[in-house]
Amino acid sequence: MATPTGRSGTRQPDSTAARVRRLNLSQSSLQDFTDCARRFQLRYLMDQAWPAPVAEPLQDAERADLLGRQFHRVMERHWLGLPVERATLDAALLPWWDAFIAHPPADLPGTERRPELHTTAVIHGQRIVATFDLLAYEPGGPAAIVDWKTSARRPNRTWLDRRLQTLIYPLLLIESAPGLLGCALPPEDVRFIYWFTNAPAEPEVFQYSTARYESDKRTLAALLDRLLAMEGETWPLTPNVELCRLCQYRSLCDRGRQAGHPDEEFELPEPVPEPAAPDDFVL
Ligand code: SF4
Repeated sequence: MATPTGRSGTRQPDSTAARVRRLNLSQSSLQDFTDCARRFQLRYLMDQAWPAPVAEPLQDAERADLLGRQFHRVMERHWLGLPVERATLDAALLPWWDAFIAHPPADLPGTERRPELHTTAVIHGQRIVATFDLLAYEPGGPAAIVDWKTSARRPNRTWLDRRLQTLIYPLLLIESAPGLLGCALPPEDVRFIYWFTNAPAEPEVFQYSTARYESDKRTLAALLDRLLAMEGETWPLTPNVELCRLCQYRSLCDRGRQAGHPDEEFELPEPVPEPAAPDDFVL
């Protein structure tokens, strides 16, 4: 996109708002902004290379990431109706596959199954994108978003409820339903299910509601307004230095060189988007 030209004929730098408006924001990028404005600036506006591993030992973190992506591909194949040959799977995936076969997500609505489903909507003037690991639904009826979690530890409900993924996915499904499913979807017809490879019989289910939908829209609008109003050469570093232990930019920010362990993510204090999420998003 062209850089605006001022009266003097010199090119003016884009405003933050203009640059952010050109981004397709996801739950991941908005979570970064919620955690630390500087991290969002470095990652999405400055394309800053990652100078430090996110977690140690590096090989373990990379291996866990690779296995997680492989499991998602296996799930995609399964839900597309293609055969999954157990004998061909990486040995590390076998316990997860067996756990899924023994305890698949129960009571999924309808008969439609669409894995790795991309969707998008403009909310509060900003394009938001997401990829659902699985959308299960009945045409014209209820729907469930399923998200596969492959971390070694199962995060608790409070931690999950504060994540922007829990806010954005159901909201985005409601907003995009007419184009995605061919009809509007009442919030009461939507569930969001986290399914865990290490706790397959204990999924975490969030039932959506009209009250939560309205509240989430206000929360997201406030978050976007805060992001669009950001100014300055160096955006504020998070005051919560614990968050820096799992951030690739910690050496740039002089926030230590020693990486944390990936499981520490579930123990970190969680910044809560403002206004605070309501407590009516319950099972
Ligand atoms: S190291 Fe800490 S302050 Fe720096 S970008 Fe990461 S989270 Fe923010």
